[in-house]
Amino acid sequence: MNDLGSMRQTERLTSDEPGLARAAEILRRGGLVAFPTETVYGLGADATDAQAVAGIYAAKERPSFNPLISHLGSFEAAQTQGIFDETARRLAEAFWPGPLTLVVPVAPTCTISDLARAGLDSVGLRVPAHPLAHALLQKTGRPVAAPSANRSGRVSPTDADHVLGDLDGRIDAVLDGGASQVGVESTIVACLGGTPRLLRPGGVPRDAIETLIGMKLESGEEGGKNPLAPGMLASHYAPRARVRLNAASVGADEAVLLFGAQPLEGVVTARTTLNLSKNGDLVEAAAHLFSYLRQLDASGAATIAVGPIPETGLGEAINDRLKRAAAER
Ligand code: AMP
Ligand code: MG
Repeated sequence: MNDLGSMRQTERLTSDEPGLARAAEILRRGGLVAFPTETVYGLGADATDAQAVAGIYAAKERPSFNPLISHLGSFEAAQTQGIFDETARRLAEAFWPGPLTLVVPVAPTCTISDLARAGLDSVGLRVPAHPLAHALLQKTGRPVAAPSANRSGRVSPTDADHVLGDLDGRIDAVLDGGASQVGVESTIVACLGGTPRLLRPGGVPRDAIETLIGMKLESGEEGGKNPLAPGMLASHYAPRARVRLNAASVGADEAVLLFGAQPLEGVVTARTTLNLSKNGDLVEAAAHLFSYLRQLDASGAATIAVGPIPETGLGEAINDRLKRAAAER
């Protein structure tokens, strides 16, 4: 394992029963499987397994963490993950399965990892219509986080060859289902109370949504600038505590976030200490990042002191996130 995730032999799986069974098996044991949806090919990982989700970022070489869409086999399964108000329910019933993502508050029974949600209290959910995606999700029986199956900065793939061109040797398998049909991404609508908001136009037209719900959607850029209520759509989880980066020493009243075996002066007497990865594994560190920030915040400390984290591999995304946390007030 290196910083960018281990090199792997990428299996090309056929779109039949054995191919689907193999793809589901790989996902269930924490592997990465690219699969076709009606929009583009997604790079899937078990959304409940933060380590597997961290692998998505490593394979894509994404320099920052944004919330990922979790894919499910049915509306019933989605309802165990998110809370659907009347509008969200009507949208799900009308457009699922299909190219619509609904951002809703997390349900108490939500099993989707903090990393897949980028630490937010909301969750992006979709039930795709592509028969292979649908069959794979039913077989896997877990929410599957899946951004587009390309390296960061490259175009979204619409067939298995595109996927392999970018990710061969970096993922466990690609399920070959031929060319994707829509080729555009899913429409994203946030239903978080108040008027629903269009976060991203996509495969389901705005008109169709507005006609169904009998009201105009608020416009909102992805990530929710200009939110309806402050904080409602914040695209980033902000800790309450002040975050202090590259700490060389820590005070007794501080909470501490460590990485690797680095010794920090004063750490033994600090209020609370968590280590993102004692072995210095950046994929493991990414998997722990959001839950550890929350735990340290919950300790009640006014400051979270963070030790240095290397800027290689996933370290770039981890540092990017920590810098935002340090800046957000
Ligand atoms: P994609 O790159 O197609 O996987 O889409 C990811 C986008 O979905 C993110 O950039 C967000 O705009 C949106 N999204 C997913 N989950 C959430 C969430 N919990 N809160 C807000 N936006 C979300
Ligand atoms: Mg993309």
